[in-house]
Amino acid sequence: MKKLLKKAAPIFRQHDGALTQELVLHPGDFGLGKVPARLTPDATTTVVCGFCSTGCGLNVHLKNGQAINVSASSDYPVNLGMACPKGWEALTPLAAQDRAMTPYLRNDAGELEPCDWERALIIFCERLKEIQKKYGRESVAWLGTGQIVTEELAFLGALGKFGMGMIHGDGNTRQCMATAVTAYKQSFGFDAPPYTYADFEESDVIVLIGSNLCIAHPIMWQRICRNPHKPEIIVVDPRKTETAMAATQHYALAPKSDLILFYGLANILIASGWINRGFINSHTIDFEEFAQFVTRFTSDYVSEATGLSVDQLWRFAETIHAGKRVSFWWTMGVNQGHEATRTAQAIINLALMTGNIGRPGTGANSITGQCNAMGSRLFSNTTNLLGGHDFTNAQDREKVARVLDMDAGCIPDGNSLAYDEIIDGIGSGKIKGLWIVATNSSHSWINQNSLRELLGKLEFLVVQDMYHTTETAQCADLVLPAAAWAEKDGTFINSERRFGLVKKVSRAPGQALSDFNIFKLIAAYWGCGQMFEKWTSPEAVFQILKDLSRGQPCDITGIEDYRMLDECGGVQWPLPETGKPSTGKLETERRLFEDGRFFHPDGKAKFIFEAPRETPEKTCDNYPFILLTGRGTSSQWHTQTRTAKSAVLRKLYPENVYVEMNESDAERLGIKPGELVRILSRRGEVKAAAVITPAVQPGQVFMPMHYAITNQLTFPAFDPQSRQPSYKSCAVKIERDIF
Ligand code: SF4
Repeated sequence: MKKLLKKAAPIFRQHDGALTQELVLHPGDFGLGKVPARLTPDATTTVVCGFCSTGCGLNVHLKNGQAINVSASSDYPVNLGMACPKGWEALTPLAAQDRAMTPYLRNDAGELEPCDWERALIIFCERLKEIQKKYGRESVAWLGTGQIVTEELAFLGALGKFGMGMIHGDGNTRQCMATAVTAYKQSFGFDAPPYTYADFEESDVIVLIGSNLCIAHPIMWQRICRNPHKPEIIVVDPRKTETAMAATQHYALAPKSDLILFYGLANILIASGWINRGFINSHTIDFEEFAQFVTRFTSDYVSEATGLSVDQLWRFAETIHAGKRVSFWWTMGVNQGHEATRTAQAIINLALMTGNIGRPGTGANSITGQCNAMGSRLFSNTTNLLGGHDFTNAQDREKVARVLDMDAGCIPDGNSLAYDEIIDGIGSGKIKGLWIVATNSSHSWINQNSLRELLGKLEFLVVQDMYHTTETAQCADLVLPAAAWAEKDGTFINSERRFGLVKKVSRAPGQALSDFNIFKLIAAYWGCGQMFEKWTSPEAVFQILKDLSRGQPCDITGIEDYRMLDECGGVQWPLPETGKPSTGKLETERRLFEDGRFFHPDGKAKFIFEAPRETPEKTCDNYPFILLTGRGTSSQWHTQTRTAKSAVLRKLYPENVYVEMNESDAERLGIKPGELVRILSRRGEVKAAAVITPAVQPGQVFMPMHYAITNQLTFPAFDPQSRQPSYKSCAVKIERDIF
């Protein structure tokens, strides 16, 4: 450690013992309170929103180099002048009182107290190195995010695995998008959502599955509202959500019967000859086996399992058949299930068999959650080696090592444990040190009580976040204060594969640093700074990521630099050097598979299927209700660490947690509207105000995920292919709170 101290000491210049914001290592990168040179102090500039995966362009208005207001950008190709409430309030969370403005270290009395950066960095390295020395390199892991810029995700992944020698690191994207990733990789040969947002406007049939688009992705819903073809809008959801109310057809199926439904629809389509034989023969494999498999899903059987009538099943199938441009869209209602990957692939199969892919208004389209879940999917070095490569492939490891100018021996030749396996590893004593970056696991992880208990077993927990007050930061031994969205530069990749720019338009408070600069400092203190010598700025890393993407389906070698992203309103991947137009403008909307070639070596897509499995936790006499969870309103974002900071947003949703239940159940239990009720599962007991509504079916209740107590109830089941948690169904009972 002495050696480390000596090496690290020149990094800071101090005046009167106080830390300055100027760091000798790379002064330009670390300078705070300055507007980047390319922005004029009183200008308006466009920045991609930092909440959801829609990736809207927000005009940020500057005064004296500081952001003072935002408005929706009218010439950004994503949102066309629109923004949801979160976007309009995007700057408010930056000014919150509980921003982490200095590192915090837990003292002997068990309290978090402020400390300086140098001490924080020394402790960080000392403790994690000690753990690795004592228990092996696998004993330290990280949990990352889909909320920081791509260049930071890549830095965290490269630092963790190549510099610090960790094997295990995963992201909170495991909670939202792992299913889509796995489904696409297996079906198409690469994690490749095929669509562009123009498809919302070009479909004549739009099928939304497990997606409350109206409130979860309001601007995508607005794109549907612009559709001039009077589309049939079909919603598949157990609840009559806001989106279901606006649909032309709503199929309120039994929870988690969606896989059976889609196999049943496939059976009707095939038996009726309503399929595209030409497309199937030219561009897919394993169709005949699939066609044989689905014959057992007769309409009567499917009707019984889903609760939908046979007439409804046929109407659904006939609508798909009648459509010329049918698009299928899914999100968390599918991804967060116990057989989620196969369900997503059953949707993909419907698109393939009807030839609804690669043309305007079509596609099997997963809608992502977080602003940079897509960046995490390709460049976080967690489930994929950087750039969509494969840790287990020696050629891929050689290529990445060559681009990064490092020894291929530094790259692990196996995959990381998944999020749930890292958590289980704490319980089994395999994981002793954990570094959590920009995610609030103590609130968002399934079966929350168990996770909080496990975090307490760690020998060292570091949380890097913009707030020191999150449920997870409060469990930490060390908190590292991070700059927020708009306080740093970088790129996000949105749901339709569009790289967009995030810019530093506001000063991070106190001593908070961008995640990029925190990683840079950690590399220096750890003793592997040399490895990241060329990682001088986010834009320098972007150039490295371009090189890493070369020859991959996500090749972005044709994107010149940040300036080009700014001028084009973002650029969708792929854009290889050879794909750039020699004259004229780049098309603003591009979709995949227009040539019918997929990413498997034979160029074909695969029909993948498997027999449905039972719901992991069924209802019984003691726990007779199914608990559904999901988004509450468009003004809430995930664990509300940011949205709760806005007085405007707080006015747009109920302050206290509530549970929706059907009027027949409420009447039977004697529960009145607004009454406090107890909701009990085998894992916990919480109280919430009853909302009596026909939107939920009898025997089901719904709670929004944004309130911390909801995940005290959820059952920790996981999709076996994607390891994504199944948040959408568990057994509970409801009681009046008479005590
Ligand atoms: Fe931001 Fe998403 Fe709202 Fe657009 S829809 S303004 S990206 S939160």
